[in-house]
Amino acid sequence: MSDSFRIPTSKTRLVDVGTSSLGAGQPILVQSMCATPTQDVASTVQQAQALADAGAGIVRLAVDSRKDAEAAIEICQQVDANICIDLQENWRLAELLAPAVAKIRYNPGHLHHHERSLPWQEKVKRIAHWAGEGGSALRIGINCGSVDPAQKALWPQDDSISPMVASALEHSSLLDEIGFLRYTVSLKDSDPDLVIEANRKFAQKRPEVPLHLGVTEAGLPPDGVIKTRIAFEQLISRGIGDTIRVSLTLPNEEKFQEVVAGQEILDDIAAGRVRSVVHFRREGPNIISCPSCSRVENGAFVELAQQVKKLSEEYAEHQFTIAVMGCRVNGPGETDDADLGLWCAPSFVNLKRGSEALGSFPYDEILEKLQQEIESLIQNRGSVS
Ligand code: SF4
Repeated sequence: MSDSFRIPTSKTRLVDVGTSSLGAGQPILVQSMCATPTQDVASTVQQAQALADAGAGIVRLAVDSRKDAEAAIEICQQVDANICIDLQENWRLAELLAPAVAKIRYNPGHLHHHERSLPWQEKVKRIAHWAGEGGSALRIGINCGSVDPAQKALWPQDDSISPMVASALEHSSLLDEIGFLRYTVSLKDSDPDLVIEANRKFAQKRPEVPLHLGVTEAGLPPDGVIKTRIAFEQLISRGIGDTIRVSLTLPNEEKFQEVVAGQEILDDIAAGRVRSVVHFRREGPNIISCPSCSRVENGAFVELAQQVKKLSEEYAEHQFTIAVMGCRVNGPGETDDADLGLWCAPSFVNLKRGSEALGSFPYDEILEKLQQEIESLIQNRGSVS
């Protein structure tokens, strides 16, 4: 039995996810997500099985289209794993998927794109109805880069936490109202301090709702593991968190390392190997990159993230954030808060300064262009900020 079995969990309610259970004192469950294209059934089966074999109690797949959904159903039949589906805008696919999968994650911020005239409450009711009929659990997955615009409008621009927590609370209340209790919540940001604050606030208000913890776009190991560890230590040691994912930018054949890293963090916390970290180290460049998933449009993305990290080492005495994202689904929005952002399309990379687009560049030219932008950023600041 692993040391993680002794980590105290919060007094959350039990949620069954396929053959796994989380909450209510169960061991904290490590999960992960496939980065292979979902429609490539053979590769995804292989990766999902590798993640499950490494100890992932839940394995997530991205589903954006009907073809993805059909592939996901086939994958469920071939893999010995509890499959969770990650829905984007195409919320109606939940009807097809619910009978086949163990869990469905929906993002409240993405319920506004399709069928705008239908209120989000109606969409959630239908998703919950299908999940109930099909026997699947749900996750309300809040992400800093795609928060419900209606909630964002209610809060000051510099307060990113309140709209996330408010969105999680209103969706939880709606599921409670309709009697669907088999759900978890996640509140993710790329800044571990914000992850800590958002989850603490939510847990204070809804201590019985199981929480899925994660630092989104944590980046490459080892830095990505360190960022995540900081958030998990602070939360899990307070009894907050029932399932975790370590989101790392890794090549496909090493994706299982997310599960290994997650289990190591849990083992360390259980053994008391917890650093008393209050604030994330902010000296030097901060490189964030998405963990990649089946939505990646060019496999060169992982290598690019590694090259950006290496390039940033030349500027160790400067503080700036560069975000490197794998696709057009989340790339444009999730790079807005970085000083410089790159999001990868099939044959070119889009470069941004904050929310301003600077153009698209071929993969073999982007690093030079990025370096020019870093230099100009530093020059404009005049000195280390
Ligand atoms: S940015 Fe795109 S490729 Fe990267 S994890 Fe998010 S959805 Fe997947």
